[in-house]
Amino acid sequence: MDSVKQPQPASATGTAGAARKRIGIFGSTGSIGKQALEVIEANADKFSVSILTAHSNHDLLIEQSRKFRPAAVVIVDETKFQLVKNELSSLGIKVLAGEKALEEVAEMNNYDMMLAAIVGFAGLKPTLKAIETGKTIALANKETLVVAGDIVMQMAVQRRVPVIPVDSEHSAIFQCLVGETRNRIEKIVLTASGGPFLGKKPNYLVNVKREHALQHPNWSMGTKITIDSATLMNKGLEMIEAKWLFNLQPRQIQVVVHPQSIIHSMVQFEDGSIKAQMGLPDMKLPIQYAMAFPVRIANDFPRFDFTKSSQLTFEPPDIRTFRNLALATDALHRGGNLPCIMNAANEIAVFGFLKNRIGFLDMTEVIERTMERLTFIEKPTLEEYFESDAEARNFAATLINL
Ligand code: NDP
Ligand code: MG
Repeated sequence: MDSVKQPQPASATGTAGAARKRIGIFGSTGSIGKQALEVIEANADKFSVSILTAHSNHDLLIEQSRKFRPAAVVIVDETKFQLVKNELSSLGIKVLAGEKALEEVAEMNNYDMMLAAIVGFAGLKPTLKAIETGKTIALANKETLVVAGDIVMQMAVQRRVPVIPVDSEHSAIFQCLVGETRNRIEKIVLTASGGPFLGKKPNYLVNVKREHALQHPNWSMGTKITIDSATLMNKGLEMIEAKWLFNLQPRQIQVVVHPQSIIHSMVQFEDGSIKAQMGLPDMKLPIQYAMAFPVRIANDFPRFDFTKSSQLTFEPPDIRTFRNLALATDALHRGGNLPCIMNAANEIAVFGFLKNRIGFLDMTEVIERTMERLTFIEKPTLEEYFESDAEARNFAATLINL
């Protein structure tokens, strides 16, 4: 069995004595970004903010910048540049705009850790730049590893850059692996809440509308990941994310539905012993764990009480109904550019669904047809990943007349 990459009690996470760790939050106006700022505010002696970025939410970016005083901000939507600049330049904050500016600030040497919290493929290039220039990565943006996990992790190893997961399941696995450097993983068990449509069948799902799918039972998240959770694509993306983060073989990755979301994931070692990481579902916990690793920070978040909980239950996922999980399993096993193609088609399908252009089950159709159509490349270069992404997006968009 392959040896696995496991968390080291890193000294390279950017903490120098009592100096505050300087964080660059890429995607600060999103669900993860906002919660990260709450963590930073509550621990102002440990963290400072160097970079904030948004796509188009200039109001929130300006508000966050006034409060946290980063050295630089990026607003990707160039039509908002002047607005943001007018508000922030007098505070000595460097304001940049456009997609390329994300890479420019990622290269700056005024921060220690990137919180990669942009949604989708757009997070890949800035994250690569941050790794290239030696920043520790706290990774929320799972799509980065789904698209080009081999290249990203190889670069991280070469530059000796820690990639610390923020995704709750992967944070759980990471936490279970602390102190287990010498021990082999037999398998990991990724827990899935099952989403809002757990137990439903296609005759129900065919009529599901946007508003309904946006109601997640356990987590409040950005719109794209909320839809991914409803279709189980999120768990599919997470299997591929886990493969790269922990250097696993596909057969070592199992998905189990656990509707209460108390166990965030588990590791089974070669002696059959299973470690689980548990707690109430709250993304602030994995965010602060990644930011402060290897130390834990005391907090007053609500605690899980075993005497008050009713039951923790487990069941296999229904992959005949939630076929996205079967497609993702196929992509996980076949590898190459297939996860990249799947991810691109999924981003377009989710966009189409959110715009009420296609139905809930059509999303799977779009992804499957795109995966079938595009040319498989076994060992793509970074350039080929970008090309596969673009081609898959174009093809998926034509399927739904975007
Ligand atoms: P949100 O949609 O809430 O936020 C996304 C952030 O990225 C916003 O700051 C947004 O800016 C910015 N953004 C969107 N599109 C682009 C783009 N094309 N270029 C640059 N910036 C862009 O997402 P979440 O916070 O929910 O998720 C972020 C990532 O973390 C995702 O990859 C998700 O899978 C992952 N994740 C999220 C969890 C959660 O609980 N939310 C849990 C585990 C993982 P603007 O606000 O201006 O649009
Ligand atoms: Mg997750």
